[in-house]
Amino acid sequence: MDLSYILNELGEDRENYFNAIAPPIVQTSNFAFRTVDDLRKAFEDEMGDYLYSRGLNPTVDILRKKLAALDGAEDCLVFNSGAAAIFAGVFANVKSGDHIISVRAPYSWAQNMFDVILPRFGVSTTYIDGTRIENWSSATRDNTAMYYLESPNSWDFALQDLRAVAALAKEKGILTMIDNSYCTPLYQRPIEMGIDLSMQTATKYIGGHSDTLGGVLCGTGEMIKKIFRSEFLNIGSGIQPFNAWLLIRGLRTLPARLDRVTRSTSEVVAFLKKHPKVETVIFPFDDSFPQVALAKQQMTGACGLFTLVLNAKKMDEITRFCESLQHIMMAVSWGGHESLVIPKCSGIPLADFDPSNREHRYVRVYVGLEDPAYLIADLDQALGKMA
Ligand SMILES: *Cc1c(COP(=O)(O)O)cnc(C)c1O
Repeated sequence: MDLSYILNELGEDRENYFNAIAPPIVQTSNFAFRTVDDLRKAFEDEMGDYLYSRGLNPTVDILRKKLAALDGAEDCLVFNSGAAAIFAGVFANVKSGDHIISVRAPYSWAQNMFDVILPRFGVSTTYIDGTRIENWSSATRDNTAMYYLESPNSWDFALQDLRAVAALAKEKGILTMIDNSYCTPLYQRPIEMGIDLSMQTATKYIGGHSDTLGGVLCGTGEMIKKIFRSEFLNIGSGIQPFNAWLLIRGLRTLPARLDRVTRSTSEVVAFLKKHPKVETVIFPFDDSFPQVALAKQQMTGACGLFTLVLNAKKMDEITRFCESLQHIMMAVSWGGHESLVIPKCSGIPLADFDPSNREHRYVRVYVGLEDPAYLIADLDQALGKMA
């Protein structure tokens, strides 16, 4: 399906709302029925009808259709955050006694679920270095129910070979789920590579303006229906109509924003790589990246987010760099209009800081929509304040 068609037309039904270009926000909790029979049908199959907005809502449905098509999936559910999409996708597919294999250091709230919540229900998780396919097979047990991937990872950008992991999982009858937030389906299409469930946060690139949260879970019609009927309706964390409307608006400009960010990122990375205060830049499409060949094989683009390894002996130097930035802000998240940094050391107690540990000197950078020269000048003056 044509990308322009998906973003501008798919799912929209303009004749039914005054030929308005922008869709209406159907801000209602419930829907009325004329006959008992119709009501009975809706109770029997809530996915077939509008009954209550905890389930389906017309504004959210426009977004659902677009996001499923973007991923090349049969169907999708949209949640009020990426974390909720992860939670529902995993919970719907494991039971007591099951085992999960996850990539090392997945998104922090995925990790919290694996470490803190799932063990209470008898589900255990093994973390592996997912870069090597043999690590997946050797960690697999008889009770392994799911392989959890995140490629690239959002701090060190480690990749998994999606086709190889999907093929291994199929052979062993194991479900695969990926966090595809870094790429979005514009730059990586996991379902087409054999992954069963593709999750992404919509808070980042899809929203694109740092003004709403959202999460997407794509899969087969059967899988999505199963999750809808239990976890989705039970957790009640579906996206609200206004937030869905913001995400539809974000989608209109997604390709243009990613293009811009891609071009700016390569300029910013090129500048940083030459700077004496920068030991290295970790970025999947950079020639120095250990898995650059795999990145270029399974991703059609990389942009925005990368990690800077600073040449620093003391935490003070990293702190001075971050606090000297005049325009680039210090905040979590990414994917919006604004450039951001976040130093790894903000999560490390002062006494534990060890400059010989490369990870302690990580500063994650997100390149937004500003002029790259403006960003480079800001980074340059802040790097100058380190010593
Ligand atoms: C932000 C993020 C999430 C969670 O998304 P929320 O919308 O913030 O809940 C999941 N995975 C990755 C890689 C993220 O960056």
